[in-house]
Amino acid sequence: MKYVRFEANGKDFYGVLENGRIRTIEGTPFQKPLHFTGEEHNYENVKLLPPVQFSKAVCIGLNYRDHAEEFGLPIPETPVVFLKPSTSAAAHSDNIIYPALCHRLDYEAELAVVIGKKAKDVKEEEAADYILGYTIANDVTARDLQPKNGQWTIAKGFDTFMPLGPYISDEVNPENLMITSRVNGKTKQMSNTSNLIFRIPYLVSYLSSVMTLLPGDVISTGTPGGISGMNKGDVVEIEIEGLGILKNTIA
Ligand code: MG
Repeated sequence: MKYVRFEANGKDFYGVLENGRIRTIEGTPFQKPLHFTGEEHNYENVKLLPPVQFSKAVCIGLNYRDHAEEFGLPIPETPVVFLKPSTSAAAHSDNIIYPALCHRLDYEAELAVVIGKKAKDVKEEEAADYILGYTIANDVTARDLQPKNGQWTIAKGFDTFMPLGPYISDEVNPENLMITSRVNGKTKQMSNTSNLIFRIPYLVSYLSSVMTLLPGDVISTGTPGGISGMNKGDVVEIEIEGLGILKNTIA
């Protein structure tokens, strides 16, 4: 199933995307079974919203071998973890705002896990039961504000620094997906989620042993090598096999 969140007639709704149509659901996709309102919209005609409103986006740093090598950093033995605030969320086709404080703004293509139900002390073998599906994230980073051995809250916490979408899908195998980023049509990153150092069941288990993960919370699994800067007016696209294209413009 593919889930979207969208705006229609001044209100927010969740829906299920099927063949270019959105079937509106009552409430949220976290309440099962789903109930449909009977209303339908054309996917091309709605304003998409970030596919979830998260209480926290838990992000993993240095989770692809090639990205760690790019920074000359050793392969971590435990995950490097940081949080993005809920106010950093942006939707597919929203602008990413280039902050005045920043002098180098980077994209980071990432596979994001969306939590489907409250998760605390989850075992690795049960992790899949707590996942609603997968979407694309751009872990936008003010690189010049990211000291290599310090806190990353400022560098990664600006408004619009967490574009997500366009939709959430539970129809992909997250262990083997091509992940690509492009700036103005030029390919910048290309890898496969099979190169992740810390894998998704481990991350759900490890993180849920620390903090309760709530429905809609996001785990962003880290970015492959090939990061570089963006300028105002650039168009950044992240594509993950089976999850569509997340496209944003720098403003
Ligand atoms: Mg990242």
